[in-house]
Amino acid sequence: MTAETIRVRGLVQGVGFRPFIWRLAAEHGVSGDVRNDGEGVLIRAVGADIDAFADAISAGAPPLSRIESLERAPLEGGLRAEGFSIVETDRGQARTGITPDAATCADCIAEITDPAERRHSYAFANCTHCGPRFSILEAIPYDRATTVMSDFEMCPACRAEYDDPADRRFHAQPIACPDCGPKLWLERDGAVVGGDPIAETAGLLRGGAIVAIKGIGGFHLACDAADEAAVAALRDRKRRPAKPFALMAPDIPAIRARCAVSAAEKALLRDPAAPIVLLRRLGDDLAPSLAPGLSVLGWMLPYTPLHHLLMTAFGGPLVMTSGNLSGEPQVIGNDEARQKLAPFCDAFLMHDRRIARRLDDSVVRVVAGEVRVLRRARGYAPAPLELPPGLAAMPPVAAFGGELKSAICLSRDGRAYLSHHLGDLEDALSYGEFEKAAADYAGIFDHQAAAVAADLHPDYRSSQFAERRAERSRLPLARIQHHHAHIAAAMAENGWPVDGGPVLGVALDGLGFGPDGTIWGGEFLCCDYRDFRRLGRLKPVPLPGGDAANREPWRNLVAQLDAAIGWDAARAMLDGHRLGDRLAAKPVDMLLRMIARGVNAPLSSSTGRLFDAVAAALGLAFERVTYEGQAAMEAEALAMSSADNGAYSFALADAADPPHLDPGPMWAELVSDLVSTVPPAAVARRFHRGFAYAVADFAVQLAGKANAGAIALSGGVMQNALLTELVLDRLGGGNRPILTQRQVPANDGGISYGQAAIASVRHGRRP
Ligand code: ZN
Ligand code: ZN
Ligand code: FE
Repeated sequence: MTAETIRVRGLVQGVGFRPFIWRLAAEHGVSGDVRNDGEGVLIRAVGADIDAFADAISAGAPPLSRIESLERAPLEGGLRAEGFSIVETDRGQARTGITPDAATCADCIAEITDPAERRHSYAFANCTHCGPRFSILEAIPYDRATTVMSDFEMCPACRAEYDDPADRRFHAQPIACPDCGPKLWLERDGAVVGGDPIAETAGLLRGGAIVAIKGIGGFHLACDAADEAAVAALRDRKRRPAKPFALMAPDIPAIRARCAVSAAEKALLRDPAAPIVLLRRLGDDLAPSLAPGLSVLGWMLPYTPLHHLLMTAFGGPLVMTSGNLSGEPQVIGNDEARQKLAPFCDAFLMHDRRIARRLDDSVVRVVAGEVRVLRRARGYAPAPLELPPGLAAMPPVAAFGGELKSAICLSRDGRAYLSHHLGDLEDALSYGEFEKAAADYAGIFDHQAAAVAADLHPDYRSSQFAERRAERSRLPLARIQHHHAHIAAAMAENGWPVDGGPVLGVALDGLGFGPDGTIWGGEFLCCDYRDFRRLGRLKPVPLPGGDAANREPWRNLVAQLDAAIGWDAARAMLDGHRLGDRLAAKPVDMLLRMIARGVNAPLSSSTGRLFDAVAAALGLAFERVTYEGQAAMEAEALAMSSADNGAYSFALADAADPPHLDPGPMWAELVSDLVSTVPPAAVARRFHRGFAYAVADFAVQLAGKANAGAIALSGGVMQNALLTELVLDRLGGGNRPILTQRQVPANDGGISYGQAAIASVRHGRRP
């Protein structure tokens, strides 16, 4: 007999790890005990064959767990134990056991569809392998009493399952059944509708109604995705003219009938995180206004028993868009929903399990063969992300990100806790959410920051929050340039070592504040984690009207044409063409005066605005965009529909300081194509290809000059799958590793993670 301690680290609490160990111990004739503590799971084991026992732990770990390391050591003094026991958690000890919400597991689905089971048709069934977690957590440690489930007292049958280590529901904190758990009801005009709420809801939806449905992390607004009148009514009521609606399908075949689904995409749809997966549209029977002008639809599968029951009853795809007022966060409370969502919906499918924390649906896309998270929220947060090895010894940092797609990030011991998506901070309620999240995450992870990080932009609400925080706590504040943070995020996510030397970072982005006071967004930076040098950029072009230029793509078109070929020449080329007529109806002279005098026309090297200008030239979102990225997304969709192999030319201004890519030649070619008979889709494609090649070639040239060890790609424009694939194609075969983002969004949702890496190094101990 030998006695050992086995220390398991990783995502091992709140995922059924202790009962799993208990069962293994029984199988292997091991005695001793298992407990959760501040570092993970600690096992004391006595037995004849501890090797086999330890191997079995690694081999058969529960589905939601993730073992990072397993360390074994002889047990000092041995252990006299009879049998094997699960030791209760010391209060205030376990801090590592906060797991993301997980989609309903196969066993629970089987139960709710089996008439013989006591949870048949029960909308809140869950077990150790599935169900709500982060969304119901109110305090730590994670325990029934510290979740919203403390509102419900377990019945004897549930209690027996909860106490039985051999049961799938042993210590499943959200355990519930029809006798003791949350209840579902349908509410209309302030009164509860009789009958089965699921069947009644499905009936309403079939009749074209819009129903608010309470989910895991907030309310959705649902309607029949094939019913154009219902979808149009939802757009009208939400004042959301074009932003795509997410969909939920009963199963994979229902999605396959409408979109292309690869093996990787199928796995993502079925992942316990159950994100919205962006899939290429093939042509379908669905409402035309679901995603106007786009070539992808966002799909998810049912991820709660409620969704499963509803999808089975309804039978087809449903729109499932977040229930909120335009720009505001998703509604989570029942009374809040009744107040705010009543104008949008005909009925409410409600329940009485509170939502402790608002969590939007996550959004992912497979680009160039890799899963890329575009919005990190339900199902992913708050799982820790790894930081490169050298960062483990650095002091903990609190980083507060950017302004749009806000998220905060706390780092400690080589791990980063990147918060769920908190929304755009221009909105007052989203900012409130951000402030709450800062306290929430610090509390949950017992995080004491030694340094604070913020964007360089002085007017971001997150920057001002960070300034106050640093001042109040007397902590050093690292101000970090937006695109340096983007690139550092790509470096850190790929484990680029702290002493790994310089990387050539390409940030293709919307807007970010530059240290020279101009607006950056098409940057070629030589970076390490401490600092950066700007080696190249896109040619700066005025943004006539400032903020208005961010909303009205035609303004960027005028500025780009003027900068590239001169307005008079452009007008002459476009004479008699539809685009010429559209521009002639605009106050172009006023814009040209603003540009000439440099009044309210700041210079910017933004890639996003270049895409806006090209989209406007193609007649896409010409007047205005109604959601961020609209023009560029429509341009991508148009380009995807063409197989053209052409590529427009960009000039390299080598002598400029810093050198820049000049889109001048591209504009001349694009305009001449537009006024001849080249189809707009081919024009869009030639722009994408030309730009991708120019960016890749410039990056390789600069990487050589700077002796960079890798090329890193980041920024919101990298969400464009076609562009990313073309850039990677062109870079392929080079001898430098290419660092791209996967788990951390390439958009501003990843800024705080990059900030945390930089601030750690700037304020860390020097080796
Ligand atoms: Zn389950
Ligand atoms: Zn019960
Ligand atoms: Fe950005």
